[in-house]
Amino acid sequence: MMMPQHFKEKGRFSIDISMKLDAINKPFQEVPPPDEAVVFLRQHVGSANQPLVKKRESVEAGQKVGDAKGDFAVPVHSPVTGTVKTMRQVFNPISREKEQALVITTEDTDLPLKEDSVGLDELNRERIIEKVRESGIVGLGGAAFPTHIKLSAKNIDHLIINAKESDPNLACDVRLMLDRPESIVDGIKLMARALDTRDIVVATRTEKGELGNFEELLQENNIRMVWLHPSYSVGSERLLVKEVLNREVPSGRYPPDVGVVVHNVATAYAVARAVLHGEPLISRGLTFYSEKTGGRNLWLRMGTPAGHVMNYLEISPEDVERVIFGSIMMGNSIPDWSVPTSKYTSGMTVFTSAEPDPYRRTLPCIRCGYCNTVCPVDIYPQLIMEADKKGDRERLRRLHVEDCINCGLCSYVCPSIIRLTGYLQNGKRRIK
Ligand code: SF4
Ligand code: SF4
Repeated sequence: MMMPQHFKEKGRFSIDISMKLDAINKPFQEVPPPDEAVVFLRQHVGSANQPLVKKRESVEAGQKVGDAKGDFAVPVHSPVTGTVKTMRQVFNPISREKEQALVITTEDTDLPLKEDSVGLDELNRERIIEKVRESGIVGLGGAAFPTHIKLSAKNIDHLIINAKESDPNLACDVRLMLDRPESIVDGIKLMARALDTRDIVVATRTEKGELGNFEELLQENNIRMVWLHPSYSVGSERLLVKEVLNREVPSGRYPPDVGVVVHNVATAYAVARAVLHGEPLISRGLTFYSEKTGGRNLWLRMGTPAGHVMNYLEISPEDVERVIFGSIMMGNSIPDWSVPTSKYTSGMTVFTSAEPDPYRRTLPCIRCGYCNTVCPVDIYPQLIMEADKKGDRERLRRLHVEDCINCGLCSYVCPSIIRLTGYLQNGKRRIK
C-alpha cells in the first residue's frame, strides 16, 4: 500500500496512521465463536427489541432472537447454535449504559444457510428491502443506522458508497474490498436497484490501482470510483456528499433530502450476503491492534466477549491498560473484558500501561481556540463545553451541538488534553 504515514489535516497537524498501515496487508483471520455468546437485543439506532426466545430454549445460528414492531426496529439473530442460558444487563460501549443481552451457550459453530442462493435479477425493490430488514442489516461504518430505512428513500439520484475508512486504526473495509470484491459489487447493485438509481459513486482514500480486482469489477459494472485526498477530516455523510457531489446538506437535514443516499462499503457486502445467500448479519470484520500482535483483521461473530478475542490472540491482562472499541478517534473504552462485540464494533485497540490514558492529565482550558479551528462542521466545541458544564440547554441549541459528528478532532488537538467529545455527547443528550 502506498498510503502516507500520516494524514495531513486542516489546521496544520497530522494524524499518525501506523496502526492502520500495520493491518492493511493482513487478510481476515476467522476467530472461532466463544463458548458463550452475549448478544445485545438492540444493536442499531432505534427502538429496543423484545426477546423472541426464552431461557433454556434451543436456538440455531442465524435464528431471529429479538425484534420489535415499527420502522426503526431491526431484528437480531443468534450468532451460534446453542441454548439460551439467561438474559441479563450488560454494559454497552455505545450507549455507555447497561442494556439487555441474551447469553447463549454455544453447542455448534456451523453456519447453516437458510435458503438456496437467489439471482440478483430475480429481486425487486420491495423484496430487497424486506430481506435487508429481516436479516438485521445496519450501517457497518459504526453508526448502525437501519439499512432498510435508507434503502426505502424515494427520489434518490445518487448512491455514494463510503469506502474511505479514514479512522487511523481501521483497515477492515480496505481488506474487505481486496478480499471479497464480488459480493461488495453485488451488494452495491442491490442497493442501487432498491433506490432505483443508476448514478453510483464509490469514494475511497486509497491510491489508484491499489484495490486491484475491485476497481476492475466496478469499471465492468459502470460504477464510478473517486479517489479522495488521504485525510481524516471528512468524517460524516454530509461532508462526503459535499466533497463528492459538491451538494450542500443543510443543518438539520439528511442526504436523502438532497437526493443522495450514502452507505458504507461493508454494509454493501452484508446486503449481498443476506439477500443473495440468506445469511443474516451475525458476523463482521474488524481491525484489532495491540503492541504485541500489531494490526490484524479479524472476522468474528457478534456477541464475542473481548476476553475471548484476547485469549485467541494470547494477550494476558498484564499486557493491557485499556481497550477501546471502534475508532480510536470516536470510540469508547470498555470497563472489563466481558463486554461483547456487536454490529457497531469496527475495531478493538489495546493500550498497555506504557501508553496510559492521556485524558487522566487534563489541564484547564487556555482558550487558545484550536479546537474551534479544526472542527469540520464549523461549530465551537470550547463554547459548547462551557454551556454543557452550566447545563445551559438554550445556549447548546444556539451553538448547534446537534451538528457535531463526533469526529474527535477537537479533543485530539487540545493542548490542555481536554476530552471535549464527552461534553459534546452530553450536550446532545441534554437537548434531545
Ligand atoms: S483547544 Fe483546548 S485549550 Fe484550546 S480552547 Fe479548545 S478546549 Fe480550550
Ligand atoms: S465539535 Fe469536535 S467532535 Fe464535534 S465535529 Fe467538531 S471537531 Fe468533531
